[in-house]
Amino acid sequence: MDLGLKDRTVLVCAGSQGIGLATARGFHHEGARVAICARDPDQLALAAAQMPGCLALVADLADPAQITGLADTVAAQFGPVDVLVNNAGGPPPGLFDTLDDARWEAATNLTLMSAVRMTRAVLPAMRARRWGRIVNISSFGVKQPVPNLTLSNSLRMAVLGWAKTLSQQVAADNVLVNTVCPGWTRTGRVEKLLGPGDADGPSAAEAAILADIPLGRFAEAEEIASLAVFLGSEVASYMTGTAIAVDGGVAKGYA
Ligand code: NAD
Repeated sequence: MDLGLKDRTVLVCAGSQGIGLATARGFHHEGARVAICARDPDQLALAAAQMPGCLALVADLADPAQITGLADTVAAQFGPVDVLVNNAGGPPPGLFDTLDDARWEAATNLTLMSAVRMTRAVLPAMRARRWGRIVNISSFGVKQPVPNLTLSNSLRMAVLGWAKTLSQQVAADNVLVNTVCPGWTRTGRVEKLLGPGDADGPSAAEAAILADIPLGRFAEAEEIASLAVFLGSEVASYMTGTAIAVDGGVAKGYA
């Protein structure tokens, strides 16, 4: 299937590792002009080296000053951003009692405001050209809260509410806004969270998670990226305001 992405300009936030990198690689494979941003220049360079022609920009997405100008830099090099993938590291775990205002504010900047600010930067040009795709990387936690992830569960619902509302405001300009909700995915973040297994198999923490996943395994980052690339494509022309799980069945409710 031709996804109609050749020569489209795509900006993947937090695109140096994990789901973001797999998504950037997916768009690159389809012939798009791909830009990525993340904080660590060394990691960025390693990622960009996998995608000839990729534009790699150092930025902390939680810092409004570092977001300003990112979209313009991409536009100057590749033309206006056609597809924005809002992605960032997840906020830290923690029970409600342990979270002070500073932690809430940091997580709000990372998870909600990075998407709001990046979208604000690319939206006017998308609306003017009457073509745009905003794809948010969220979590299955919006379908079924994950114990202990107080910040993530809360702020990702805020992103969902924002995205659904925005989708209705910009549909008339053919800008489509959708959200991908990954389940447990084998990335650096998860490997660190679960720790190493031993010779007999996975760690106890990993085994407990696996037991709860109907498909019986973690996702590979590429399996999440496939949906992100599809939603960013020409082909997904009649989809907006959705939040779709790619989670191996781990969220047990409907939808
Ligand atoms: P990862 O740790 O493998 O990659 C995270 C990326 O974000 C890296 O490129 C890192 O450099 C970048 N990043 C982190 N903080 C940043 C910041 N402040 N500014 C710029 N870049 C920043 O993570 P992942 O597993 O690919 O997760 C991506 C998103 O998907 C996260 O929000 C995560 O919570 C969510 N998610 C992941 C899983 C999973 O099982 N891996 C499940 C559900 C949701």
